[in-house]
This record gives sequence, structure tokens and C-alpha cells, in this order.
Amino acid sequence: MKLGILLNAFYTSIPNPHVRGRPLDPADPNLNLADQLTVAQEIGIKNVEIQAPLQHATPKQIQALKQALDAADVRAGSVHAPFPVYDEGAMDDISSPDEAVRDAAVATIAAAIDLVAPLQPDALVLHPCGARMGDGLQLDQDETRLQARTEACVESLVRLSEHSQAQAISLALENTLPGDLEQPDDLITIVDRVARPNVGLCLDTGHAMIAGVDPGETVHRMGSRLRHIHAHDNHGVVDEHLFPFLGDVPWRSLFDALHAVAFEGIFMLEVASINAAANRDQLAQLREMGSFME
Ligand SMILES: [Zn+2]
Repeated sequence: MKLGILLNAFYTSIPNPHVRGRPLDPADPNLNLADQLTVAQEIGIKNVEIQAPLQHATPKQIQALKQALDAADVRAGSVHAPFPVYDEGAMDDISSPDEAVRDAAVATIAAAIDLVAPLQPDALVLHPCGARMGDGLQLDQDETRLQARTEACVESLVRLSEHSQAQAISLALENTLPGDLEQPDDLITIVDRVARPNVGLCLDTGHAMIAGVDPGETVHRMGSRLRHIHAHDNHGVVDEHLFPFLGDVPWRSLFDALHAVAFEGIFMLEVASINAAANRDQLAQLREMGSFME
């Protein structure tokens, strides 16, 4: 297992008023790529995840990003696929029962795969459905609707797996905040139905807590389907994206589970902020529990 951190790349050059639901502020150090790479170097992290509004990005921007990563001696271990919060009304929901929406979503993500291919990431992380940022954290209990979404998601992933195979990139389906298809067991069903070696799962520890499932037990159930981790902490209610050990995630049992299933992917920190000095103790604890290869 390797350690990584998620970066918010080149948002400042994208004319979009909202990123992850907050106003775009070029002075925000969380949005400054150079500053984030400096932090990665300070804490000795070699793997990063690129989270960027790729549906608006250009090959030239990707080349510039690659140069910045090379100069900082880090690699893009993973890339996050576009998801609707970046673009109000965007048609990028791969499990939409509406075929036109689904086709547009597959096309958007396929284009993103081609765009980031020069970065040679191991995995592309994608959401099974449009995030319900606006209408609260309501679980969808309608079985017929869930069934339709499951079928649609399987179909989209089969198409995308063929596309990503050509670029040697794996797909990792992430458990999201409560909405449709947020339960890890729903995603296990989908990945088993897709049954392609380059389609697996991303466990988001914070989202699991909010969905009311234990991250360690979930790792055991996911087993070899697990390709990637989004690691962050919270208190089980709000998606706080805290640094590990600052919330209620049972990290010890999670790491025991990761070692038990011989997880070889990247333990990607998806935290709202990181600071080499302030998080020194938590980083040391993390490295001790994870015994990361790099
Ligand atoms: Zn995540």
C-alpha cells in the first residue's frame, strides 16, 4: 500500500464559480497547485490524485500539470472523473435512467480518460450517480428505482471499461454520500455484474461513516475488488474531510482489514487541509499503522 494526497488542480484557471460547493478563491491555499505540491514534498508523499474539472480542461493544461508534477517528483497515481457538482445541470450521471443523460455521462468520462492518459494514472475514480448536493442526505428506499440505476450503472461501466482498457487505466467506483447507490454493498453488486478486471472499487472512509457502515468491515467485504482508498475522518454526520484520527473512523481496524486483504493500491488522503507541522503526530501514527511502501 502507498500513501498519497488528493490535489485540487488548476481550478484557478477554470471559469467556474463553485468548486466542491464553495466559492472559488484564488487566494485559498487549498486551490493553489504549487503550494499543494510543496506540502506533498514537505511530508514526503510521492503519489497524488488529480481532482479537476476535466470536462473544461485542455491537453495543454494537462501537459503543464505533468511538468509541475515531474518537477515536484510526484506522480498522478489517480485522477477523479468529472462529477456534477462542478457544473450545475451537467449531464454526467452514469446511472441515470434517462439514456440521453447516461450517454452524455459516458462520453464526458471517456473524454476525460483520453485527456489524462499522458499522466499515466493507475486509476480513475468515478461516482456511481450524480451527487445530491442540493437535496440533503436522503436515502433512496425505492427498490424499483435502485434496480433501474443498478442496471444503468453496469451498462455504463462496461462501456467505459473498454475505453479505459485501451489507456491502461483502471476504474474505481466510489461510495458517495447518501443518495442513490451510496451503499458499498450496492457497488459490490455492480462491480460483480460488470465482471471486468479493470473495474474495481474505491472505498471512501468518510462517506462510509455517514452511510452508517463500518469501513474495516467494508474492506473485508470488498476484498480484491478494492483498488483505491479515499481516506478522511468525520463524526458520522457531516462530510468534514478531517485528517485521520481527528474524527470517529476506527483507523486501527481499517488498517487491520487493509493488511488482511493485502491491499496494494493507494491510501489517498482526501482532507480539507494538511499541514506538515500541525499534522506531524497524525502522519507518524498513519505511517506506523500503514507501513506504506512509499
Ligand atoms: Zn472521496
